Amino acid sequence: MAQIIDGKLLSIQVLEQVAHEVDILKAECGIVPALAVILVGDDPASQVYVRNKAKRATEVGMLSLEYRFDADIAQVKLNRLIRELNSDPTVHGILVQLPLPDHLNEDEIISAIAPSKDVDGFHPQNVGALASGQPALVPCTPQGCMIMLRKVYADLSGKSAVVIGRSNIVGKPMAALLLQANCTVTIVHSHTANIEDFCRQADIVVAAVGRVGLVKSSWIKPGATVIDVGINEIHEEGRRKLRGDVDFQDVEPIAGAITPVPGGVGPMTIACLLLNTLKAAKKKNTSLKLDDMAFEAM
Ligand code: NAP
Repeated sequence: MAQIIDGKLLSIQVLEQVAHEVDILKAECGIVPALAVILVGDDPASQVYVRNKAKRATEVGMLSLEYRFDADIAQVKLNRLIRELNSDPTVHGILVQLPLPDHLNEDEIISAIAPSKDVDGFHPQNVGALASGQPALVPCTPQGCMIMLRKVYADLSGKSAVVIGRSNIVGKPMAALLLQANCTVTIVHSHTANIEDFCRQADIVVAAVGRVGLVKSSWIKPGATVIDVGINEIHEEGRRKLRGDVDFQDVEPIAGAITPVPGGVGPMTIACLLLNTLKAAKKKNTSLKLDDMAFEAM
């Protein structure tokens, strides 16, 4: 039986630590970390994500600012808002909920956010800093996966890791973080032949694909750790359910540790978003260092 890495529980621990540090920031410096979230259009999934982010931000004592626009908003208007938020010293984190409607240039909008407030970690400056091992705001989902992996391994050094998927928001930053932790990293994607052969060699498999139940037990080395980033909606017995990229029932008996879906990586993503907002607020305003040790010890 595999160790189930409980993302719900772990995310609560991260959020408690964030709330504790927000209290210190308020008491010692009079600063309330503020997260501005911009939502364009009425995509139901995006509305749920934005609502959850705002709720959690408030719960940890942060200020949550929401900017909602119709799907036909002009790019110039969005750019103007981002410029205003960039220069507002009371705003510490800015997030534009993706995806955006087709007429908007996503790259241009992400690049318009001040790198120091880019709590999603998608700005080219943060991407470059992560790739070159410099301090950066790191994308939330891979950051959450690393906290989960540290629950399994005291030291990741020398582990072999396979990341399935090479997106800018998950696969690539995940690989960069594993490399930084001294893992030997392979990235596989839709053009890779015999993916299962790569996975079978790995101590750690991270699946970030978007294909229900793609990863089977025959892909996994006995005792390996399997991190399932995938969130796929299925309809079963007339009900809507969420499933990962890993066939959990099949893989769990052979894995050493595994994340469930739901209740795995998903809750860690929001927790890391608020951790990034806290980091941004501290960096901008105080000489107080984030208690990295407290987070790494989780
Ligand atoms: P994405 O941008 O669509 O990227 C998917 C990646 O998977 C691509 O690199 C693609 O390869 C690769 N791929 C597709 N089919 C494949 C196959 N059959 N075999 C091997 N590789 C394959 O997706 P994403 O944004 O990274 O998200 C991936 C999954 O994670 C989705 O289910 C998403 O909903 C979920 N997600 C979850 C969270 C969370 O908080 N838990 C956060 C973000 C995303 P190519 O590059 O060659 O096309």
